[in-house]
Amino acid sequence: MPGLEDLFGINVFNDSVMRQRLPKETYKALHKTIDEGRRLDPEVASVVANAMKDWALERGATHYTHWFQPLNSVTAEKHDAFISPMPGGAVIQEFSGKELVRGEADASSLPNGGLRSTFEARGYTAWDPTSYAFIKDHVLCIPTAYCSYGGEALDKKTPLLRSMEALNKQAVRILRLFGRLDATRVTPTVGPEQEYFLVDKGLFDRRSDLIFAGRTLFGSKPPKGQELGDHFFGTIQARVQAFMADLNEELWKLGVLAKTEHNETAPAQHEMAPIYAIANVACDHNQITMEMMKKVASRHNLVCLLAEKPFEGVNGSGKHNNWSMFTNTGHNLLDPGDSPHESAQFLLFLASVIKAVDEYQDLLRASVASAGNDHRLGGCEAPPAIISIFLGDELTEILEALEAGASYSGREKKDMTIGVDVLPKFPRDTTDRNRTSPFAFTGNKFEFRSLGSSASVSDANVVINTIVAESLRQFADELENAADFRSALHDLIVRTIHDHKRIIFNGNNYSEEWVREAEKRGLLSLPSTVEALPCYMAEKNIRLFGIHQVLSESELRSRRDIGLDSYAKMINIEAETMLMMSRRQILPSVLAYAGKLAETHNRVREASVPLACTNGLLSELCGEADKLSDCIDALSDALSRKPAESTPESAASYMRNRVLPAMAALRASADHLERITDRSYWPFPTYDELLFSVR
Ligand code: ADP
Ligand code: MG
Repeated sequence: MPGLEDLFGINVFNDSVMRQRLPKETYKALHKTIDEGRRLDPEVASVVANAMKDWALERGATHYTHWFQPLNSVTAEKHDAFISPMPGGAVIQEFSGKELVRGEADASSLPNGGLRSTFEARGYTAWDPTSYAFIKDHVLCIPTAYCSYGGEALDKKTPLLRSMEALNKQAVRILRLFGRLDATRVTPTVGPEQEYFLVDKGLFDRRSDLIFAGRTLFGSKPPKGQELGDHFFGTIQARVQAFMADLNEELWKLGVLAKTEHNETAPAQHEMAPIYAIANVACDHNQITMEMMKKVASRHNLVCLLAEKPFEGVNGSGKHNNWSMFTNTGHNLLDPGDSPHESAQFLLFLASVIKAVDEYQDLLRASVASAGNDHRLGGCEAPPAIISIFLGDELTEILEALEAGASYSGREKKDMTIGVDVLPKFPRDTTDRNRTSPFAFTGNKFEFRSLGSSASVSDANVVINTIVAESLRQFADELENAADFRSALHDLIVRTIHDHKRIIFNGNNYSEEWVREAEKRGLLSLPSTVEALPCYMAEKNIRLFGIHQVLSESELRSRRDIGLDSYAKMINIEAETMLMMSRRQILPSVLAYAGKLAETHNRVREASVPLACTNGLLSELCGEADKLSDCIDALSDALSRKPAESTPESAASYMRNRVLPAMAALRASADHLERITDRSYWPFPTYDELLFSVR
């Protein structure tokens, strides 16, 4: 097997390949575009395209595709062969600069939320040169943004790139105030930790709910779940280890910095964490990672479940979105630093995040909203649907002391004057202990833990970048006009802490007391997608995205509508699947078993032998079967009464208020039946098999 150095990035048209293969001038010009976000010269594009094609052909590619991320959170690709006809019936393999830079996708079936009518179905893809092209399955994939004819964003990448630009612009203004003229660009970095489940393919294939909904819609808790805590960081089973090794290799070939792998809390649950990258690349890489997890799993006769809550009663899966900002001179702006100057700058950037999270709790919550994630958020295993920040006791004490104008009473008792003193050291490990907080400071970055495992990380990062850009914009406006920078800075930091400290909470976010306390503090609680997504259209949020030119009002509306629409559709699919499974599998199996019991009962009675247990069991079975049948009717009725005329909001809210409760009742009845029905009669594999099958 080749070593990691030879393997890593072997299928990526990365910087070293470009340096080798491009004429010096072209390489330099392309770099200018990449580093400074400039427009690409068509002549440069054409040289790059040709070099890219030659490289791809040498590596066995036959097709190319503009690889993009439409609004349904997956990736889309339409393959084009490199061939061009020649006179005399021959072909040559060609790829022009125009084909590299811009594509046209007649993708009228992709969701657009009213941004594009079908008669104007054309959408355009445009190369994102900051994310390297790569070869996957003999196809050269070119990461692209996807827009409508009128330039409106129809994808997840466009607003992410715009939000990165917004953050850059405002952060650089702040750095200038601190005299950091060497840093000319600021880029957000993201390291998404990805959780997932692995189940045996043979068992998966026998469950329609896993096939259609990606999660179990029935299933009673097995005798053993995760209560012993023996799976987390446990020894990895050989079959899972083989999957992980294979996955790493595939990801490394594609330049994804897969680094950490371990067993997670629930049985059959695992995690992979990459080394962080700039936000858009991290997002692309996370999409590739999810795709590869599924692909590689099937080679091992496994299925990788990325749903947020595939199993009731054990933990669901999320994505921890580690986020920070770096200057092009390599400085992490959320690192507390070692000098008074760095400390002051750190406190300002920290304050910008605190203010942003407090003022835009609604947007952060909306950015992680989906039908699947609703089952996870607030489930006492994942961050609640209330957004708050964890800073750790030491940093919180420092901020409190600053606000009160008092001494910091930690281990190094002293006054702190911003810009004069260095922040006292707070050990990194004490900052990472609270795993219950949705938005935690972990020493030199923030970790947003509310993202669902199947989601694109784009939405959350668009929001984080934009809301922090807005804090920084207001800070820069104030400080640029200040007569005395140092005292204005001090006042600003103290005022920001004072105004926004309600968002800081270092306690247990899973507790009931926190829910009450958060309400007292006036923090938002948006329990489901139905309340969360409409927040995109709040006046203040339309203004925010407008100021920073990240999303227009119609683009925001399309995102809200598509989100609500997928929510309603997902629940509809789940409800239909439940009806199918309960009518055609569960009820018939239970009746067959009841029939068998009745027969046994009669036979035994004929033999004049006393037998009491069949009576009790039979009446419990039949009573519950009747209940199941009523629940089937109720769910079917709820589905048939869906209002014909609806808006995305009213349709979603109907599904939540009428259909979800009927699904829960049906499940409760079926799960009861599962517990008392002979295993050999039960029509599909149960939790004990699914969760403990992979060895
Ligand atoms: P843990 O959370 O397990 O202590 P780390 O803190 O080392 O582990 O990293 C967790 C994730 O955070 C990794 O994906 C890592 O690359 C990412 N990460 C670390 N530093 C940064 C940063 N400055 N910006 C964004 N992500 C980061
Ligand atoms: Mg972490």
